[in-house]
Amino acid sequence: MQVDYIIVGLGLAGLAFTKELEDHGKSFLVFEDESQNSSIVAGGMYNPVILKRFTPVWNAVSQLEIALPFYKELEHKLNGKYDYSVDIYRIFKSIEEQNNWFVACDKPKLTNYMVPEIVQERYKGIIADFGYGKLQETGRIDTKKLLEDYTTYLNENDKIRNESFEYNALISEENIVKYKDVRASKVIFCEGFGLKKNPYFNYLPMQEAKGELLIIHAPNLKVDFLIKAAVFVMPIGNDLYKVGATFNWKDKTMNPSKEGKLELIEKLETCITCSYKIIDHIAGIRPTTKDRRPLVGIHPKHKNLAILNGLGTRGVMIAPTAAKELFNSLEKGTEIDSEISIDRFQ
Ligand SMILES: Cc1cc2nc3c(=O)[nH]c(=O)nc-3n(C[C@H](O)[C@H](O)[C@H](O)COP(=O)(O)OP(=O)(O)OC[C@H]3O[C@@H](n4cnc5c(N)ncnc54)[C@H](O)[C@@H]3O)c2cc1C
Repeated sequence: MQVDYIIVGLGLAGLAFTKELEDHGKSFLVFEDESQNSSIVAGGMYNPVILKRFTPVWNAVSQLEIALPFYKELEHKLNGKYDYSVDIYRIFKSIEEQNNWFVACDKPKLTNYMVPEIVQERYKGIIADFGYGKLQETGRIDTKKLLEDYTTYLNENDKIRNESFEYNALISEENIVKYKDVRASKVIFCEGFGLKKNPYFNYLPMQEAKGELLIIHAPNLKVDFLIKAAVFVMPIGNDLYKVGATFNWKDKTMNPSKEGKLELIEKLETCITCSYKIIDHIAGIRPTTKDRRPLVGIHPKHKNLAILNGLGTRGVMIAPTAAKELFNSLEKGTEIDSEISIDRFQ
């Protein structure tokens, strides 16, 4: 079998690069072994404001300009619904936070998103003595459904093998890579935390951050916006809400933990008072980096091997931009933004 590209891993990174290939008429084969699930469990939120400090997220506005049409196009292609517009209501803890909100509303990068007033309305079952700050033009991508539908589409078109990519079976020659029965021009590695097993790129400094989420059923919490306090409480339909997320830099497993669950319950009960039932408890490992920038680029020695990883806590917004940068570099010889290029670690 001969293809232009082999892609290893079909999370948000692999999907974004694969779509770029399809848009440019390139052939490819994906390998996916379900060893990681960050993209499947993700909250899927996109939001250009850091809600702790009310500051802009790095490059978020330009990333959204690419990301929103990207998900729209996938909706058309796969005939599915993935992008849900959801406002965010940030619960204020104090008068000082209210004041900080108004100051931030004037920042040019934030004015389109932050509403310059305090929402004083009382919502049943929510503790919010100082009211809320409202963010608009934000939303969530149903990443699980998107990846399921995309995998089905790739299976129907014989473009995916549901198996592990074995690094020791890869032979990288000057203008070609050989992998078992496949010949390709290039391999793009998109394994998330699976990077640790990749002998070509595991020299890169990945700081994995495990995250856990609860899914609760709360029929009396009648809100259609995301509540952000000690945790986020995100409506996903049918009176179900995602509650998250924890950060753990020590535990490298994808297993939901007792400690994670207790932490989420404790924090949840500082912001809602209504009854709820836990329906599910899920966990995944975010592929983060120390400088909080992605890992994008071509191997320093093997010019036909490249990486798209390090999407951290914001894969939904970053993946389409980072995939474009990598594609343009490989196919058009453009330079990758030095902030995300892996050359910064040489
Ligand atoms: C709890 C939690 C909440 C989050 N919430 C948000 C959010 O609200 N918004 C947001 O933007 N981001 C969020 N994130 C972060 C987001 O999930 C990540 O940025 C993104 O999913 C990373 O995508 P990825 O494709 O790089 O990695 P992954 O999703 O880990 O995908 C890597 C893929 O490679 C496969 N793989 C690995 N090794 C091999 C191999 N050898 N052979 C074949 N396949 C292989 C794995 O099975 C996996 O499918 C959250 C993450 C977590 C854990």
